[in-house]
Formats: sequence, structure tokens, C-alpha cells
Amino acid sequence: MFHESTRRVWWHPAEVLGTAIAYFVCALLALMLTRFDGGIAVVWLAGAVLFARLQVTPRRRWMPIIVLCVPAAICASQLFGFKGWAGVGLPLACIVEAVGAAWLMRRFFPRFGRFQSMREVMTFLIICGFTLPALSAVFAAVIANAARDVGYLTAWRDWYAGHALGFIVFGPPLVLLLRGDVAQWTRTAGPRVQRRTFGLLGLVLLASLAAFGQSRIPLVVVPFLPMIAATFKLGRFGAVASIMIVIPVGLACSLAGLGPTALLTGGMALKLQVLQIYFATIVLLLLPLAAELYARRRIVERLHAAEALHRLVLDRMSDIVLRAGLDGTVRYASPSVERVTGYPATELGGRPLFNLIMPEDLPLVLETRRAVMASPEDSAIVEYRVIQKGGSVVWVESHVRAMVNADGNVSGTISIIREVTERRHFVEDLRQQAMTDPLTGASNRRAFDDALGALVTSPSMGGEAGCLAVFDLDHFKRINDEYGHAAGDAVLVRFVAIVRGAVRDGDLVARLGGEEFAVLLAGLSVEQAHLVCERIRMRLGAVGVDTPSGPVIAATVSVGIAPLSIDSDPERILAAADEALYRAKRGGRNQSAAA
Ligand code: GH3
Ligand code: MG
Ligand code: MG
Repeated sequence: MFHESTRRVWWHPAEVLGTAIAYFVCALLALMLTRFDGGIAVVWLAGAVLFARLQVTPRRRWMPIIVLCVPAAICASQLFGFKGWAGVGLPLACIVEAVGAAWLMRRFFPRFGRFQSMREVMTFLIICGFTLPALSAVFAAVIANAARDVGYLTAWRDWYAGHALGFIVFGPPLVLLLRGDVAQWTRTAGPRVQRRTFGLLGLVLLASLAAFGQSRIPLVVVPFLPMIAATFKLGRFGAVASIMIVIPVGLACSLAGLGPTALLTGGMALKLQVLQIYFATIVLLLLPLAAELYARRRIVERLHAAEALHRLVLDRMSDIVLRAGLDGTVRYASPSVERVTGYPATELGGRPLFNLIMPEDLPLVLETRRAVMASPEDSAIVEYRVIQKGGSVVWVESHVRAMVNADGNVSGTISIIREVTERRHFVEDLRQQAMTDPLTGASNRRAFDDALGALVTSPSMGGEAGCLAVFDLDHFKRINDEYGHAAGDAVLVRFVAIVRGAVRDGDLVARLGGEEFAVLLAGLSVEQAHLVCERIRMRLGAVGVDTPSGPVIAATVSVGIAPLSIDSDPERILAAADEALYRAKRGGRNQSAAA
């Protein structure tokens, strides 16, 4: 077994003999039927036979095929073509031409025969339709002229036309036939395709008979219709099969004096050349068309595969992919949109995205969209709230960028959206904690500094900007000493509650440290602030504080008030309030003083 498969066979008797016989028959027929006035045959199929055989055969098996074709060619010529030494030279020129064409195609397009690219078709045309027939025709013209006194130009033209057209017309279909493409296609096609094939190819046959079986009306374009239909529906197989139908029908009818060529004035040589130009047109139309169709089908297949993958990814991911048009209409939303918004993706398509966004956050979202659409190479991140179907609100983070269409214009936006409600709440809690005193819940020193700084530097800062009041509990050390630290804490908590009850919601209540507090009384005059502070002081004095250990503590507080307008520097405003507080302490505590 192993021995068998690795043995390099360098000749197959059937391959070698079959090619030589086919070459002989084709050469003989061409010489018998298409030579006029003792000149050159105008239809030359034999070269394409050898060329196609070599194309589909490994190079190591070429030699016997070529060697056996030489006597076949010479015999045919001696029988019906040129005799004597010209009947050796011309057949040799034919063989060299076919081998040269096969060799060059191998060299420049090793995978020739699939007809799947324009490059392949062009390479084939340059080598087989132009270069080699043109060169061999020079050689043939010299021989034909010397042997029979045929005109150089006529001989060159007949040879070139016959051989170039022979390669173009018969080469590709023969390569496909020999490669087993057609056989494989007929094996793999299902009954439905087979019925369609018979139908279409039947039409090709009918159209060919209609065009060539009569010589009254030149219906040369009629076969194009079913041939193109067959190529569209059946691909390369349809193209080759159509060619294999129209050529024999056309050739046979024309040789019998029927068909559109019968309407031409001129000899049979001219008619056959015109016919071959017609055939070459068909080949050069159908094969590239089939190649192009094949390439497109491949692209569509790849597109489908990519689409399936992308659907799978979108279906499985928890983030939302959302495309929106220029006007903010949802063009596409991935399935996970339902988990976040409560609306199924199908329900959102075509509806405005902005309906889902919390109205307060809409300006930020619109501004972000505007920014990314203005610079399509950048992306942006925006966090906003989405109103769910049930009415509850979730936070989302959206990475958004502009989509640019084929013309380079922005056609909308694409976003990846993730729900971040938990993260958002966590961050807000952290921010809150960073600004709050844990014991009393009042703002801490940092929050106070920020708020005072903002109030002082705000442009609305005028004469009535407000007051800062600083509180310090009196003899707090004593309370601690007498009732314990926990009781002291309870007094601090209670004090903040009293302050909160006395000021407006927007006023900042802060613990500056220890038993010192500050209140920012925005918009109040010193007199008004004084009243508020007195109310706090008296309330604390009046209620007393229940302690965890039992006794009710009567605590008092001293207050220093400073108008914010006293200085533009927050530090000095605080210092002024402190100074007033110091005066209140010295004045006997449990009282208010203003700077
Ligand atoms: P004055 O009337 O002059 O303000 O007397 P005072 O005792 O309040 O004097 P001072 O400001 O020196 O003492 C503040 C005390 O407050 C010292 C400290 O033990 C106490 N203290 C500071 N922070 C806390 C706290 O968080 N809880 C409790 N229970 N006591 C605190
Ligand atoms: Mg103190
Ligand atoms: Mg104190």
C-alpha cells in the first residue's frame, strides 16, 4: 500500500494514447474541413486539446504525452495538410506552441482552470490568445510561403486567428472538462438542481438551433439569454456546459452552410473566423461572469458567517450595543437592552432613544452626542439615568462614537451601554462619606471649606450673601469628665439635631472638629443670623440631653457670627467668627456675639 502510493508514475497509457488520438482526430478534422485553397486550417482545436491535457497533468508526466503527439500531428498533416518537410515543420510548430502555452500558464498562473479571478482570465488571454499564436504564426507563415507560395500575411492571419481563437474557445471548457469539474458537478447536484439544469441547457440547445439551424434571420444574440441564465443559476458549470452546446451546434451548422454565417459574402475561411470570434466572445463573457459570480457568492458566504458570529456575541453579552440614527432614533439594540430597560429590542427599534433618558440627564447626553459626531475619530463616555418600563430608574455608562458611512458622512452613533447603578450608588456613598462626620452626620471640615470657598467666590456674592456662625459647646471637658465620653457624644448628636431644626434645608451644618460646629446661613443678615443662633442656643439650654447612662445633661453653647461680606478670604471670615466666639466665651459663655 505504502509502496503504491509513493511510487511516482511518470506515464499513464490511457492519458498518453488518449491525448495523441484526440490530437490526431482534431487535427485531421480541422485539416479536412477548414482548409481552403491549400492554405492554413482556420479552425484549430488540436492545440487546445494538448494544452488542456498538459494543464491538468503533473509536469513529470508531460514528456510521453508530448512525444506521442508529434507523430500524430505529422501523420495528420501528411494525410490532409501540408506534405513533405513543411508537413513536419508546421505540426512541430503546433506542438511547440501548445506546450509553450501550457508551460507559461503553469509558470504565471499555476492554479489555472478555476476561472475565479479576472487576473486569471487576463493571463490566459495574453499567453494563449496573443503571445504564442502570434509567434508561431510567424514561423508558420515562412514555411507555408516557402512550401506553397501562400502569401505571408494571409498565412500569418489564418494561423494566428485559428490558433488564438482555438485556445480561447476550446481551452477553458476542455480544462474544466478534463479536471473532472463537470463530472463532479453532475454527481453532487440534487434532483431539483438537475431538473433546472436540464431545463436551462435545453433552452441553450434550442436557442443555438434557432440561431444556427436556419439562414434566414441572424439570431446570433438569442443564445446569450439562456447561456447567461445558465451561468447565473448554475455557475461555472452552467457556463462551460452552455459553451459545449453552442460550439458544436454552431460549427456543424455553419460547415453545412446554415446559420448566420451563410449570410456573409466571402469564403468558408472567413465565415469560420467570424464564427470563432463569436465563440470567443461567448467564452470571454461567460467565464469571467461565472468567476465574478463565484467571488461574490464567496463574499456573501463570508458575510453570513461573520454576521452569525456577531449575532452570537451580541446575544451573549450583557452590555447593550445600540445604534442610533442622526435624529436619535434607535436603529438597532442588542437583546440585552431588555434586561436594562425592560423594553424588548424589537419594541425599541425606530423609536427615539431620548424617551428613555431621565430629563435632567438629557442635555449631557445630547452634548456628548454632538461632540462625538463633530469628531468621528474620538469616542466619549457619558453616564446617565434610564427610566425603565416600570418607571424605576437605573444608571448606565455609555461609550459612544460616531458612525461614518461610505461617503465619509456621519450617519449616527454607536454605543456600548452598561448598567452601573450599583457602582454609581457605591461611589455616591463613598463621596458622601468623604464629606460627612460619622458621629453626627453633619458635614465635615473638608465639606465646610469647599462650601465656604464656593460661597465666597461665587459671582452672586454681594452684601446679603449671608453669615457664618461658629458654635463651641461650653465646658465640654467637664461634661465628658462628669458623665463619660458616650454622654458627650450624645450631646454632640443632639446639638446637631437642634441646629438642623433651626436652619433651612440648604444651609450647611458642619462639624469643624471636637465640639466645634459651623453653620453657613446663606442670604441672612447679621441680625437675622443672630436670631437663628439665639434660637439654637436657647433650645439647647432648654431641652437638656438624655444620656445613655441615665442623667439628663444641661449643656450650653457659645456662638460667634461673622458676615460673609467681611472679607474675601474664607480663612479670615472664619477667623472673624472665631474672634466673636472668643468674645462670647469671655463674656460668660452661653451667648452670641457678632464680628
Ligand atoms: P470651653 O467652654 O472653653 O470651650 O471649654 P471646653 O471644655 O469645651 O474646652 P475645650 O475646647 O478645650 O475642650 C473640648 C473637649 O471636647 C476636649 C475633648 O475631650 C472633647 N471632645 C472632643 N471631641 C470629642 C468627641 O468626639 N466626643 C466627646 N465626647 N468629647 C470630645
Ligand atoms: Mg472647643
Ligand atoms: Mg468648648
